[in-house]
Amino acid sequence: MTDISERTTAVRVAGAGAADLVAGVGSEDVPAVAVGSTGARALEPLVVATREGSSAFVANAGADAVADASRRPMGRSPTARTRESTTTRRPGRSRYRPSPSSTASEPFSRAAGGRIPAIPTTTRAPSASATRTPTPCSTPPRTLRGRGWGDWCTDDPYADLWAGVRDRDGPTSVVVNAHGNPGDALLLESDPYAVLDGASAAARAVGADYLYLYASEADETALERARDAAESRDYGLPVEVVSGPDVYRAAEPTMAIESIEGNHRLEARLRPPGPEDEGVYGNPTIVHTARTYAHLASALHGDAPETRVVSVTGDVEATTTVELAESDTVASATDAAGVDDFTAACVGGKFGGITTDLDVGLAPETLAEADLGTEGTIEVLGSDRCPVAFVGQRTNVAAETNCGRCVPCREGTTQLTEKLRDVYDGTYDEGGMAELMGVMESTSICAFGRDVPRTVRTAMREFDDAFEAHADGTCPSGTCAIGGTQ
Ligand code: SF4
Repeated sequence: MTDISERTTAVRVAGAGAADLVAGVGSEDVPAVAVGSTGARALEPLVVATREGSSAFVANAGADAVADASRRPMGRSPTARTRESTTTRRPGRSRYRPSPSSTASEPFSRAAGGRIPAIPTTTRAPSASATRTPTPCSTPPRTLRGRGWGDWCTDDPYADLWAGVRDRDGPTSVVVNAHGNPGDALLLESDPYAVLDGASAAARAVGADYLYLYASEADETALERARDAAESRDYGLPVEVVSGPDVYRAAEPTMAIESIEGNHRLEARLRPPGPEDEGVYGNPTIVHTARTYAHLASALHGDAPETRVVSVTGDVEATTTVELAESDTVASATDAAGVDDFTAACVGGKFGGITTDLDVGLAPETLAEADLGTEGTIEVLGSDRCPVAFVGQRTNVAAETNCGRCVPCREGTTQLTEKLRDVYDGTYDEGGMAELMGVMESTSICAFGRDVPRTVRTAMREFDDAFEAHADGTCPSGTCAIGGTQ
């Protein structure tokens, strides 16, 4: 690699001494960030210089290599650090001027119990949130909490965290994380102005310099609507729309930041420090889901219903997203999706809790008390599904798609999958599985590894007889092949 400076829009320096090396990078240069060890200590300090989706590496780097990598190409502004393949800025149109061709989407339905209609692609009248005055915001109400596992403050109040970010020096970023949850994607698709209203209010509250909208590359319509909304108004700061890979873990807040920085290999960051200290390009950052920002916007306009956006997936005719009162139940959501026959539901994300009792309230405390997840998704297992097979498939997915950063999750998901396979061979090691899951839950770095045991634990509790039966060579649902008998 001979000419790093022509290739660079983001620079990370990994390993011992990284902090000293980035300290000398000038304010006019590409942001350089010190990160933890890559594990390849013989190559460290290791410089990773990224531009337009490709990276170059310099092993055993010195200060000169960091300075070369961080030199910004002439004429390139900080907000031009986009990956052509993954950002959704439209060439030739300013994102900060109203665009006569941009149209607003219908507002997100708040009819409790009603399905949110499919949003047609034809031109519509601007929604209320598209036309109302941007919301002032100095301090968010202390009762407001984060929503969804892509939120850095899931189920926790965020006012104090914002106050800390506001008091820190240096550039600050606000990230809207709409990755990986049908409700967040639909919200961005159906009413991006409500999301941007809340996010820009958050930006003013923390004194942010950059605002990022982040969603899965699979949610093309959401990205397009987000781009149109970002281009149609002046939000007072640069707004960039970024897509990430279509994998579940990419919604984890620190992996969302990695993706925004243009990194290919998404790994969760060690914490502390959290994003509020070292987020996008090492600067203070707040990360919340689209639901959190939309709810904030409603609260600031004096209209904050205690509702939850819930998506019903799995064995249903079509994924259905509804907004329900927190006093409603899981059954209210599955009823709205037309579910009348089921084995169980996995409540709260890919690694939610398994339950046969749908009469559980949607308030986060109620769900947590029932050992269910609060992410806002309900996956239905139809009447012909085997819960033992389901959790085995789910742990296998976890083993194959975790980021590999920490041992408890990387090895734990593999061992848990093997133990579930052992059930089919006649060994149901309840004690060993409980011990393994305890370690995973208490020592995994991020929520991905901490949540996987919940799916297994709750299934074992709800379907203990089915696990015992499988170990004895029988699948009660008649769907699993055990010992070649079915
Ligand atoms: S818990 Fe899993 S996904 Fe999270 S950092 Fe550890 S290995 Fe990666």
